[in-house]
Parts: sequence; C-alpha cells; structure tokens
Amino acid sequence: MAENFQTLGVRADLIEGLRELGIEIPTPVQRAAIPKLLAPGGDLIAQAQTGTGKTAAFGLPLLMQLDPRNPKIQGLIIAPTRELAKQIGKELFRFTKYCDPKLFIEVAAGGDKIELQIKRLDRPTHLLVATPGRLMDLFKAGLILDAVQTLVLDEADEMLSMGFQAELTRICEETKKRHATWLFSATFQPRLEALIEAHMSPKAHRLQGDEKQVVNPNIEHRYALLAREDKDAFIIDYLRGQGSQRGLIFCRTRAGCIRMGQELENAGLPVAVLQGDLSQRDRDKVMRAFRKARVQFLIATDVAARGIDVEGLSFVIHHQLPDALQYYTHRSGRTARAGKKGVSLVLIEPDERERLSKLEQSLALNFRPAAVG
Ligand code: AMP
Repeated sequence: MAENFQTLGVRADLIEGLRELGIEIPTPVQRAAIPKLLAPGGDLIAQAQTGTGKTAAFGLPLLMQLDPRNPKIQGLIIAPTRELAKQIGKELFRFTKYCDPKLFIEVAAGGDKIELQIKRLDRPTHLLVATPGRLMDLFKAGLILDAVQTLVLDEADEMLSMGFQAELTRICEETKKRHATWLFSATFQPRLEALIEAHMSPKAHRLQGDEKQVVNPNIEHRYALLAREDKDAFIIDYLRGQGSQRGLIFCRTRAGCIRMGQELENAGLPVAVLQGDLSQRDRDKVMRAFRKARVQFLIATDVAARGIDVEGLSFVIHHQLPDALQYYTHRSGRTARAGKKGVSLVLIEPDERERLSKLEQSLALNFRPAAVG
C-alpha cells in the first residue's frame, strides 16, 4: 500500500490541515522521519536540505506531542534566521487549523519588538520557534524553558557557520529536562558532530539519506565555461531568455553583488540586490518585492540568502563556485521546491574544471553543459 500521512501515524485533524495546503503524499524525509519521531523518546539526526519537506517531517510529530491543556512551552524549534523561523511558524500554524483545542505557536526572532514578544509569551504558548540570538535576549528577560520536552535544531550547520555555537550550548542547557533532541542539517562538519556528541544521545537515530538524496533530485545541474569578463553578458542573455521564470543569482562578495546589480539594471532587467550591508528594513523591503514577484531576479551573497524561502524559483545561478562545497547544496536548494523542477547553473572559469569535478564527486552529481549560448 502506498504510504500516506495516515499510514505514517499522523493525526486526522492535522491531515485535514495538510490537505488544504495540497500536502497529501509524504516526501522521502517525511516517510523516514515521522514514524521514528512518533515513537516515544529518542533523538534523531537527519540529513535534509530545504525543499525536502523537512519542516513537516519534524513539525507534525512535534505538534502531536503537545498537550493543549498545559499552558507551558513544550516544544522548541531553533532556526538560523528570522525568515526561516517565521516560515516554520507560519507553516505549522497552518497545519493546526483544525486542531481543537487550539495549539498556540509563537515565533521569536530579531527585528520584532522584544517587549511585544515577552508579552505574547506570557499567554499560554505550546510551541516556540526562535532564532538563537533572540532566544538569548529572552533568557536575559527571564524566560524559563523548563517544560520543553522536545528541542528541534533546524539547519544546524548554518547555525554553526553563523557562529552560534555558544548559544546552542546554552539552549541545550536551558532545556535539560527535555526528552528528545531532533537535529536537521544539510551537511555534517566535524564541529557539528562535536555538538551532537555533547548534547545528544549516543543512541540517536541517524537518517543519513544517501548522498544522492541530500541534493534534491528535481534539480538539474548545469555549468557554463566562461572567462570572467564574459560572465555578465552571459547572465544577461540567460535572464532575457527566461520569460516570466524567476531566479536567484549568487555572488561571493557584497561588492560583486552590487556591481552585478548595476550591470543588470543597466541592461533593463528587473533585479534587486540582497547583501549584508542593507538595513533590516531595506532587507525586508527587497524580500517582500521578490516574494510578491515585483522583482523577477534577486542577486544575493550566501550570508544574505540564508533562510530565503521563496516558492516557485526556476533557477539558481552561481556567478562563481561557492567557497565551501556545502554552500552549493544550500544555494541550489532554493530552487525545485515542493516537487517542482529547477536548474542550478554554475559559471566556471577554465582553471576551475577540477573544482567542479570534485563537487560532482562529493555530492554524487552530474553537471551538464548549460543549454544556452
Ligand atoms: P521544507 O523543506 O520543509 O522547507 O518544505 C518545502 C515546501 O514543500 C513547503 O512549501 C511545504 O509546504 C511543501 N511540502 C512539504 N511537504 C510536502 C508534501 N508531502 N507534498 C507537497 N508539498 C510539500
């Protein structure tokens, strides 16, 4: 029998919420994780990137654990960026549309007024989604998390590469009474393994997803071999050939992003630039414009693009190969979401062929030449 959310053990009221969102057939990570997480106790370490349905994979079992009669925070989800935290909160809120009694979910992330968040947390709250930095501020303001049963660390590798090691340790300590820790990450560096060893059960289940599943199979990987000075012209041609399709262009440096933004704008293309020098307000403005499709193409640095989760992106262009191979997984994961197809196109210079082969080997990918010229 084909597996559906019911056979995985998901509660009927949640399935009703899922159905309204068009979520009916579980993705591989959901099929693997949900039955494990519905069984009592036990830690889970899962390799999964954005776009695989990981939010529902941990979110559904977590929602099923919450006791609506207990007004305390019983579940805690930590995510690297405010965008991702908000996105998780929104998605789980939608799942609970038919839950009765109601489950209360709060999101605590930077950018929003902390006084307001403190007030909201004074009301019954069953599940909190937070960024590490903002949670530290809430601890300072007296937040106590002694009723948390399950801690979820989402995109743990991103949190470490953003320098949140001490914050994560503190969070693990503040929730010492918990019964389970579920960790999701696209990549596993030694630093992450150290965190796992310090704070998780040695008996944790591992969903190592074979490498081929780590990178979303709906992504087509392409490359174009170009001299550096020809890249802008190539990108302009490529974008002009996209019709109404939307996409993201990654650039390694802020200066590179700004320069390319100007080039593309001069070429009359509807682009915006997202880079770390922008104020939070400008960042939000750019993201809103992109999300609402008022801007068709977005140029971003790796750091600025963290947590970007926009539906319906058909392609991702890498102006250069990323510095760290793991970024390739994160960058390309922005396309081909929710079962759709997408293209991830890398522009490489002639002396970078070897780096591309290494990437192919380590991620078990096959790059084909780009279909433009
Ligand atoms: P995630 O990897 O959790 O960020 O999910 C990526 C997107 O896929 C989200 O927009 C989800 O709503 C959607 N999604 C999650 N699970 C499924 C599913 N089983 N079928 C279709 N869409 C899904």
